[in-house]
Amino acid sequence: AVEIRGVTKSFGANRVLDGVDLTVCPGHVTVVIGPSGAGKSTLLRTINHLEKPDAGYVRVNGELIGVRQQKDHFRELPERAILAQRAEIGFVFQSFNLFPHLTALENVAAAPAATGRASKSEARERAAELLTLVGLADKLDAYPGRLSGGQQQRVAIARAMALRPGLILFDEPTSALDPELVGEVLAVMKDLAGTGTTLIVVTHEIGFAREAADTVVFMDAGRIVEQGPPRRVLDHPEHPRTREFLSKVL
Ligand code: ATP
Ligand code: MG
Repeated sequence: AVEIRGVTKSFGANRVLDGVDLTVCPGHVTVVIGPSGAGKSTLLRTINHLEKPDAGYVRVNGELIGVRQQKDHFRELPERAILAQRAEIGFVFQSFNLFPHLTALENVAAAPAATGRASKSEARERAAELLTLVGLADKLDAYPGRLSGGQQQRVAIARAMALRPGLILFDEPTSALDPELVGEVLAVMKDLAGTGTTLIVVTHEIGFAREAADTVVFMDAGRIVEQGPPRRVLDHPEHPRTREFLSKVL
């Protein structure tokens, strides 16, 4: 499970997260929606300690992320320990962030080979499997510059899966794509949702939330305003802010 407790984060005087509490059950898909500046990306980034909370903490499978508890306060873990935790959490960004000088296969195989968790040939074999899973069996040797945005994003998803993380975070994975390429990426994410991997997805794709989410979370101004099953939050929102937001995006 992912447990976010009392997470608060400010940039200067700007309080971007204001006491966020959220629990995500293992294998569940949580979709986070909300207006620009609500703190959605910052919340995702605190989950793997790319942002350090000012207060509160995150636990993944019971383990504190980025810190250890010392009596009544938290101490930052050494960088190496944080990197090791981060390797257990997949992250897919809006921009695909592939290595341009590596093929699709090499992009996916890089991390497992580098961490020494798999031999080079095992890593390549697994990368080929993952790329086949995301529909790119015929693009193993293609460089990112020769792939469409949708194909690049599917490589990025395969790469996020390469270390077999129990948890994958997605930050607007389709918002940089041309509209006709969005569907192929959402389809891969829907397949992934059925595999027992825990997913936390920030997206404006309300259709995806409706079909794939166990829980929809609406954030505004650094707080979770409401959350629940997609049909309740999307079709019968309780809070006026949620209604106002949905009336604009639906
Ligand atoms: P969007 O839908 O536009 O991606 P968001 O909900 O993801 O928005 P965040 O990116 O989390 O919002 O940003 C929330 C607020 O925090 C914004 O006001 C933003 O300007 C501010 N912010 C985010 N990162 C930083 C940073 N590194 N330094 C200063 N301010 C930041
Ligand atoms: Mg964002």
